Amino acid sequence: TEQLLRNTEKLAVVGQLAAGIAHEIRNPLTTLKGFLSLLKSQATHKDNWYMDVMMSEIGQIERIADQFLTVAKPQTATYETVNLETVIRQVASFLHPIATMNNVQIGIESEAGEPALPCEPNQLKQVFINIVKNAIEAMPQGGQVDIHIARHPDSISARVIDYGHGIPQDRIPHLGEPFYTLKEKGTGLGLMICYKIIKEHGGTIGITSEVGRGTAVEIRLPLSGAVTR
Ligand code: ADP
Ligand code: MG
Repeated sequence: TEQLLRNTEKLAVVGQLAAGIAHEIRNPLTTLKGFLSLLKSQATHKDNWYMDVMMSEIGQIERIADQFLTVAKPQTATYETVNLETVIRQVASFLHPIATMNNVQIGIESEAGEPALPCEPNQLKQVFINIVKNAIEAMPQGGQVDIHIARHPDSISARVIDYGHGIPQDRIPHLGEPFYTLKEKGTGLGLMICYKIIKEHGGTIGITSEVGRGTAVEIRLPLSGAVTR
């Protein structure tokens, strides 16, 4: 955890710069993609294969750049008082097309009387998008993602539960390390960004998992609002 915290702090500083670079990288990539597909339409069979590889590598650079871009937003973000359930419902409807495509249902359950929470709503959305996406990706055959929102004396928690392939115990401590991914098309930046944002909100992330049974990711946010940044 110490190492993770140190990584997160370093990245908070480097993050702003990285996001700027990511933005600059996106435009030339779009040009590359355009001309590559133009060439592909005139290419021989063998060259075509090279171009598919190039296209998929460009895709990977784009995914990494996109993840870094999400770190750029805190500069302009302001704290608002919102209901966490509202934020999560917006995320669920945003991800609805992806969930449907993957045969996944998203169920949301919330304790009544949930008070509003001081937070940066767009940043929190980013967190739940990343976590729910991971849950969907853990169930290639489809299934159910359950989100339970609960109230505690000084905090609110949201548990995102999936019934997917799970995570081996020895890997759990590494989650959130930059570029730590076990996916072919992963960036290993999603959870790193989640940890950064939740830390800025003075909250915590807890991950429990069982291989072959599923994973629960619990976000806990203080009702008193963020620690000073
Ligand atoms: P990415 O999704 O791009 O790989 P993340 O930071 O979002 O990067 O996740 C890091 C790794 O954590 C994933 O590659 C995956 O192995 C593991 N992981 C995260 N969430 C889950 C989950 N719900 N079920 C199984 N594995 C998960
Ligand atoms: Mg992810």
